[in-house]
Amino acid sequence: MKILRKRKIKRLFRKLIRYSNKIFDLFTAVASITDKRIKAQIPTVKIVAAMIIMYFTNQGSLNSLSQEIAFKKLKADIPSVSTIARTADTMDLEEIRAVGLAIYKKARAKKMLKPCYGMWVGVVDGHEQITSAYCKCKYCKKRIVTRKDGVKDTQYYHEFTAFILAGPKISYTLDIEPILPGEGEITSAYRLIERVCKNYPKAFSVVIGDGLYLKETVFNLLEKHHKYAIAVLKEERRQLFEEANRLSLLSKPETYRKKKTYYRVWEHSIKGCWDGYGKGVRVIAAEEATPKRVHSKDGKSFEDRLKQGKLDVGHKSTPFRRSL
Ligand SMILES: [Zn+2]
Repeated sequence: MKILRKRKIKRLFRKLIRYSNKIFDLFTAVASITDKRIKAQIPTVKIVAAMIIMYFTNQGSLNSLSQEIAFKKLKADIPSVSTIARTADTMDLEEIRAVGLAIYKKARAKKMLKPCYGMWVGVVDGHEQITSAYCKCKYCKKRIVTRKDGVKDTQYYHEFTAFILAGPKISYTLDIEPILPGEGEITSAYRLIERVCKNYPKAFSVVIGDGLYLKETVFNLLEKHHKYAIAVLKEERRQLFEEANRLSLLSKPETYRKKKTYYRVWEHSIKGCWDGYGKGVRVIAAEEATPKRVHSKDGKSFEDRLKQGKLDVGHKSTPFRRSL
């Protein structure tokens, strides 16, 4: 059983490599990546290949890659963990981005990537990458965490923002940008959005972010690049939030049902309620309710449990669908 599984993995792995080469010319493309080591003994492409294998085989770290037994034959080809780490530190990021762009272009030309509801949508969000009790580099952010026993520890971690081209089946990460120590997510996202708009000018027309991205700087930047912006409206943006709620009380929602869930959706055009952003926006308020028969507190009857609604804000001309 175990041998069969190993064989199957090997077969799938070979297929994956063949496919990557046939469709994307992957290992030729990554051969263009260089690094700044002096008198390097192992070519950069070998290091990149090792990292690709780490992702293909779903290994969480370089250490687990070097311990993976299913690829014993490959093992001799994989450089040491410290060599991979040291080389990765000095790799040319623009060359790596160029590989990403080349793959994207091929995938798009072959119609592998698909739009969402007829729109090409980018999603930007912050992610935490690693945490460690020891500081390893100048890009580490740090915070104090309280252990179960009450002792306070310093924890080091890395954060980055990612820009993902969202698709119904396949999503593609276009680029990432570190969130540096002392820096907020939006500062990093701003650099990321600028670069993605420059490198992928026609890849998407809408950019979606969470409540953090409801900022005039972000909306203005995207408008400059002729992109629509959508962000979650939270209560902190009080004036806009209250105006949207006020309008919802005054107007009739669109209603529809999808499977067991009922939706009530309002769409408002609001201007002048968002300080610093003079332009009009559209606010979509949605309430969803999935009636679930549960016993009421007295145990004698049933009542329906409801889910809380959510608000989204977009540029005035954002191509929202009412069914969103
Ligand atoms: Zn670090």
